[in-house]
Amino acid sequence: MPSSSSIESPAAADAGAQPLAGLAGVGPALAAALQRRGLHRVQDLWFTLPLRYEDLTTLTPLAALVAGHRAQVEGVVSQVETGFRFRPLLRVALEDATGGMLVLRFIHFRRTQAAQFAPGVRVRAYGEVRAGAQGLEMVHPRYRILAGESPPLAQQLTPVYLQAEGIGSTRLGMLILRALALLPDERHLDVLPPAMRQRLGLPDLHTALYTVHRPSVDADRAALDAGVHPAQRRLAFEELLAQHLALRQLRQRARACTAPVCTGGAALQRQLLARLPYALTGAQRRVLQEIAADLAMPRPMLRLVQGDVGSGKTVVAALAALAVVGSGWQVALAAPTELLAEQHARTLRGWLEPLGLEVVWLAGKVQGRARAQSLQRLQDGAALCVGTHALMQEAVQFRNLGLAIVDEQHRFGVHQRLSLADKGAAARRVPHQLVLTATPIPRTLAMTAYADLDVSVLDELPPGRTPVQTVAVSSARRDEVIDRIRAACAEGRQAYWVCTLVEESAELDAQAAEAAYARLRDQLPGLSVGLVHGRMNAAGKQAVMHAFAGGRLALLVATTVIEVGVDVPNASLMVIENAERLGLAQLHQLRGRVGRGAHASSCVLLYQPPLSATARARLELLRSSTDGFHIAEMDLRLRGAGELLGTRQAGLPALRVADLVRDADLLPAVRALADHLLADDPLRAELLLARWFGAARRYAQA
Ligand code: ADP
Ligand code: MG
Repeated sequence: MPSSSSIESPAAADAGAQPLAGLAGVGPALAAALQRRGLHRVQDLWFTLPLRYEDLTTLTPLAALVAGHRAQVEGVVSQVETGFRFRPLLRVALEDATGGMLVLRFIHFRRTQAAQFAPGVRVRAYGEVRAGAQGLEMVHPRYRILAGESPPLAQQLTPVYLQAEGIGSTRLGMLILRALALLPDERHLDVLPPAMRQRLGLPDLHTALYTVHRPSVDADRAALDAGVHPAQRRLAFEELLAQHLALRQLRQRARACTAPVCTGGAALQRQLLARLPYALTGAQRRVLQEIAADLAMPRPMLRLVQGDVGSGKTVVAALAALAVVGSGWQVALAAPTELLAEQHARTLRGWLEPLGLEVVWLAGKVQGRARAQSLQRLQDGAALCVGTHALMQEAVQFRNLGLAIVDEQHRFGVHQRLSLADKGAAARRVPHQLVLTATPIPRTLAMTAYADLDVSVLDELPPGRTPVQTVAVSSARRDEVIDRIRAACAEGRQAYWVCTLVEESAELDAQAAEAAYARLRDQLPGLSVGLVHGRMNAAGKQAVMHAFAGGRLALLVATTVIEVGVDVPNASLMVIENAERLGLAQLHQLRGRVGRGAHASSCVLLYQPPLSATARARLELLRSSTDGFHIAEMDLRLRGAGELLGTRQAGLPALRVADLVRDADLLPAVRALADHLLADDPLRAELLLARWFGAARRYAQA
């Protein structure tokens, strides 16, 4: 690529970095309101994109209106009807020269507003046309009363921006145009070389920004509304590139540090393997070899192990830990929930204490003397520490941390992962990092979402598993499900009952679980039933989980707190209430709690009829497949990347323009250009990162 594309002086080019307070017409109050919206610098306005567009360039004659379309109309009031007595009502009938008629209907309005309309008054209105009781109508249209001359029509499509912090769409649009006037020369602005731009069929950044903020009348409305207009794709490219660069920089920084060479531990590993009641799968052995090769290098390992629920990631982590411990270094393992961390602590104690190794437990709830003791033991060099994110706090100091393991990574952010890695960062020496996840991510997406990590895949389940039989059952047949629980428990198996009422409120979730618990205890006399939910204290949760793991409870009623990692092989039946409310990935995770032993297991998806078509398709998919990768791919198609692997899960700032699925075809070019920028044009890479992440960039410098 031509070196003439390099920028000589990024500072001069960077009008976009000016604070918004310096923009004409932005006083202190407005600047403060903009800040509350997260808009600080001129370039933040450039990249604040419209929610949608309105066509105010034409007037539709009333006789030509069609229900279901948005339109701008002009007419004269022929009749006004108001009613306040039973329920407020304002109906304004408009007519025009074409002989058509349209009713403007208001349900919420002020009396002064009603008084504006009188027969003979001319009105211009914009809204969606619907078929009403007395012909076509617009409900709560935007409108203005016309006096004298008709005002001119818009010359462009009108962008509609999110209204927030007292700043309306029109005002924001004006500020954005003012900010666009400060766009620097294209040479200083654009990161995409013209040849690549042409190959991808994308406009330059200048054109792209003007197109999204001031689309001309003949712009492709449908493409704009769908977010696939070349101008929008141009911005998506830019954003994906910035995100990719941020991750690659993280990787570069980490790889420039040294890490302990860990080639020991073989004897410890042999002892553990000899004690396991099973042999490793081929996939487990292969992944362990990949890890061993990383650990033998003086550079930090940055490895993600991706394996479906039940593929046996825990023992892989334990064996990796032994290589490091056996080489004289400490290991930390962090899990996203206390429940899971506690289970790991128990498992690892069972495996490692017989080998004479100390396992320290450290969760947020460990306080006072117990905490001080745990911290002391870490400084004294205890082999392994298991905990929740409490592990990542400042005060936790290791003597010589050599490996940081993060389980179920999608629940942690990148910065949290890094802060654990920081624990060993004295003298530019950092620990190796091993990240475990059950979130199956299609390969192209993984290369972007986890661009800072190498990926190993555990693509084989331990032998002897019978696939979980999944059925969808209407809640009307709840009694049959109760019978199944009774039957399973009579055979000595155990069951889960998962309540999924209101995701947003732990309080309501807990109440729903309490209610289900009471009801199930009534319906299943003679069975020992336990309850676990997020509002219980840690000791209470642990006691219940111990009892269930130890077989002293037959049925465990739980909220989705048991979603990740919980491993009780004797449990063979899972009932998920209101299954239609959960996403596919989450249902698959939950279902992964059964089918872990040799017994045939089943999962009952109880749903509340009637089901929407999508909900039906999702339950059907889950019924017909137990392959996490297949389910993830289909999930992507059914609802887009957002929740499954969105940047939220990768721990990055949310994508504003791009959509990892919709724009997936841009990713190869994104990667190629990132290679070039990192190698040959780091200043331009910096400029791009500042433009897209601004304040959020701190994490990249962690
Ligand atoms: P993951 O974390 O990948 O969901 P776990 O590590 O919890 O899975 O393992 C699931 C279950 O499979 C555990 O009960 C574990 O003991 C068992 N397991 C792991 N590896 C093997 C293997 N190679 N053969 C048989 N069982 C295994
Ligand atoms: Mg696990």
